[in-house]
Amino acid sequence: MAEKLFPYRHRTLGAIRNAGLHLHAFCLNPGCGWDADLDIGTLIERLGRQHSAMQPDLVPLLVCSRCGGKDIAVALSGTEEVPTETAEHVRQAWKRPRDKST
Ligand SMILES: [Zn+2]
Repeated sequence: MAEKLFPYRHRTLGAIRNAGLHLHAFCLNPGCGWDADLDIGTLIERLGRQHSAMQPDLVPLLVCSRCGGKDIAVALSGTEEVPTETAEHVRQAWKRPRDKST
């Protein structure tokens, strides 16, 4: 059985900070491809330590700083930099099945 790449054991922003982990955001806009380490400190200041760090709760709050898109994926990461391979995996995994007509 394949192990999940990003298990969500850390369900709040405070838990992520305590664990020294990072949240990485990926723009899913094909023409953009921006990705960045989210500033947990800023998120906690704005939302509080108890705010959920689960994707459905965070993603609606995020906007791509490059293209302004709202189509964002979030992944938990142990480091500030996410390897290209991992970024690609996240983008593939998050692709929404919405353009099937073409
Ligand atoms: Zn973008």
